[in-house]
Amino acid sequence: MLDYHLHLWPHGQRDKTPTLDELHEYCESAVKNGVKEIAITEHLFRFVQVDRFLGGFFKQYPESPVRAIMEQYWANHAQADLDTYVEVALEAKAAGLPIVLGMEVDYYPGRMHEVSQFLAGYPFDVLLGSVHWLGAWPFDHVSDSVIMAEWDKVGIENAWKAYTTSLEELADSNAVDVLAHPDLIKVGGHLPKVPEEFYDRMAEAARNSGISAEVSSAGWRKPVKQAYPAPYLLSKFFDYGVPITTASDAHGLADVAFRAEEIKAYVQSAGYQSLSGFRDRKPYAAEV
Ligand SMILES: [Zn+2]
Ligand SMILES: [Zn+2]
Repeated sequence: MLDYHLHLWPHGQRDKTPTLDELHEYCESAVKNGVKEIAITEHLFRFVQVDRFLGGFFKQYPESPVRAIMEQYWANHAQADLDTYVEVALEAKAAGLPIVLGMEVDYYPGRMHEVSQFLAGYPFDVLLGSVHWLGAWPFDHVSDSVIMAEWDKVGIENAWKAYTTSLEELADSNAVDVLAHPDLIKVGGHLPKVPEEFYDRMAEAARNSGISAEVSSAGWRKPVKQAYPAPYLLSKFFDYGVPITTASDAHGLADVAFRAEEIKAYVQSAGYQSLSGFRDRKPYAAEV
């Protein structure tokens, strides 16, 4: 098993510096729970180096209370130093810990080429790609009532359509290796009349681009109370030969390898007999 989606810092916690001890604890907890290798994948927008060229990204959208929340959220998060993050991970790797260096990269329409060029300057093993917001709307902020009220204005069908289109574009961009939490749009339990129509498009996007997909236990901690991806989408991925990683999306030590045994059973029940690990952004077959 792998845990290929791990954050070092909870949302809201600012400018923490990672330490070798912290990574050691992450590895220890993972191994205890049957995970052979982890990837640390902090959010791209948490780093000051990224703020320098992507800060102000949301200014292109019309001013609104939602955009103001998004901008404040960004400003609160863009505090960490990318070079330290990379150095500590490399130190951990060199010390023989079962860890690879990753990043969770959001989809920035029209800017992915620039993002790719920036990321190419660092020795990443794996890059996750995520759609967390539609325009300036961070639809997955389930505990923010202003953000959740937006669901009624946008409408479930429109939100799923926009999300699926963004996911297709992200897969097509070739900027990332894995589609993280591929059906994140269900996070708050807002389901369209025929989710399969959207799931078919998501699976085709992965197949056509050759990208891997993530199977994540994080959905069990959210209002939807379902792993990502839904069973229908996971079996579609399998039918299409889309490789998968497994993940907890922990934002702290307590959730490292969260429900890893159940994720293992889930991917096996869909037919998967191996996972996709990464080194230097190249996949290798890892044990389920
Ligand atoms: Zn995410
Ligand atoms: Zn994440």
